[in-house]
Amino acid sequence: MKVRTRIAPSPTGDPHVGTAYMALFNWVFARQHEGEFILRIEDTDQARSTTASEQAIFTALQWLGLDWDEGPDVEGAKGPYRQSERKELYLQHVQTLLDKNHAFYCFCSKERLDTVRAEQQAAKQTTRYDGHCANLSAEEVQARLAAGEEHVVRMRVPETGDCTFRDRLRGEITIPYSQIDMQVLLKADGMPTYHLAVVVDDHHMDITHILRGEEWLNSVPKHQLLYSYFDWPMPELIHLPLLRNTDQSKLSKRKNPTSVTYYRDQGFLPEALCNYLGLMGWSMPNEQELFSLQEMINAFDVDRISTSGPIFDQDKLKWMNGQYLRGLDADTYAAKVSAWMFNEERLAALIPLVQQRAERLSDLVPLIDYLVGARRPLDPDDFEHKKLERAQVVKVLHHTLAMFDRKREWLRDDLYASCNQLAEQCDMKLRDFLFPLFIAISGREVSLPLFDSLVFLGADLSRGRLRDALEVLNVSGKERKRLDKAVEQLHFSD
Ligand code: GLU
Repeated sequence: MKVRTRIAPSPTGDPHVGTAYMALFNWVFARQHEGEFILRIEDTDQARSTTASEQAIFTALQWLGLDWDEGPDVEGAKGPYRQSERKELYLQHVQTLLDKNHAFYCFCSKERLDTVRAEQQAAKQTTRYDGHCANLSAEEVQARLAAGEEHVVRMRVPETGDCTFRDRLRGEITIPYSQIDMQVLLKADGMPTYHLAVVVDDHHMDITHILRGEEWLNSVPKHQLLYSYFDWPMPELIHLPLLRNTDQSKLSKRKNPTSVTYYRDQGFLPEALCNYLGLMGWSMPNEQELFSLQEMINAFDVDRISTSGPIFDQDKLKWMNGQYLRGLDADTYAAKVSAWMFNEERLAALIPLVQQRAERLSDLVPLIDYLVGARRPLDPDDFEHKKLERAQVVKVLHHTLAMFDRKREWLRDDLYASCNQLAEQCDMKLRDFLFPLFIAISGREVSLPLFDSLVFLGADLSRGRLRDALEVLNVSGKERKRLDKAVEQLHFSD
């Protein structure tokens, strides 16, 4: 049997370090077994998926040196490799399930489902579909379909009994069926849900081992049922521990930079990032900390992955990157520096910002220092302003950060429009509103244009600087909670 692994990222937002982590382990496992590693794009959420994000995933993985044998851009025998291009296949499989009575049409309205959920929550029960449409007569179903009533298709789940499955790292896991929802398989827009698509695709793409995040463990009973309904063998399951922030919470962009692009732009080396990710839940048998991809392939043992959540620690990663940088010969180091920032693409983004502001070429340096390097450390006095009280400064920073956190795309004009809107909602003049943002982003009251700076820095770094500014201003937990509440009352355009 040829080992075939895959990752199946959704092309929404920036390429996540969690995706890079999954890619690394799947890639190493496949390479170690002389197998194949497949990149599949899960773009069934049409509203959120973008081609820019798909392209960013390709770029991030290429930068890391994790190549794939089949994918949207690499032809293979099991394509297409974008779920949006596999709609027909899913529809056929939904029909098979309906024909075998393993699935049923559901016509329940959102209002009805919300009511059922609220009642279950009030009664402290597991929230799940109550089976309202599970036993409609064939005539009624036909009539309602013919009348064009909006519907979804749900899978049947046994009413009693337990589901037992095996995870290679955790052994047998048992979950009672009473906790499993009659999952929607086909949405009202005709697109499959993740649960249907992942099973159909993993089967048709001959995936032998699924290495993915442990957040999917609870979905396995649904998948196992689908495999049995289709009468297919199930791939081996290896659920990797989730990466965590230093406070043990799940790694999130609210607390940590999570975009691979951020690490590239900050001058981390792909070798160092891969090495560091390789230590997340795994270690060399001899505890050697620095190792190359090839060394990891040689020594990798999937059964030695630990299931306790590894901490993604910036300081450790920085230390490791330093080790790599110092180990380079001078020519390679020089090449890395120019590839990092003094390359055509980055310079092309900087030049229009600085050219009209410079009298000498060397003026470039003080103008762009906060864009290519760290911004200077701040202290609370930096935010003194003749018209703004501390509370207003904090509010601007906090609310803007909340708005940034909600952004799926990071576009200059959209960021500008959102700040404008937020300033209005805060009843402030835009000029005053932008002052704390200038300080937080550039460390200066006057700098290169703010919105161009944000775009150049990218979402992660911009958010990180606002977070840091809030820290500098010593915002208490209580104050933060009050502001979080206030944000919920605001309207964000996206
Ligand atoms: N799209 C899912 C994710 O990115 C894939 C999960 C899986 O690997 O099955 O988390």
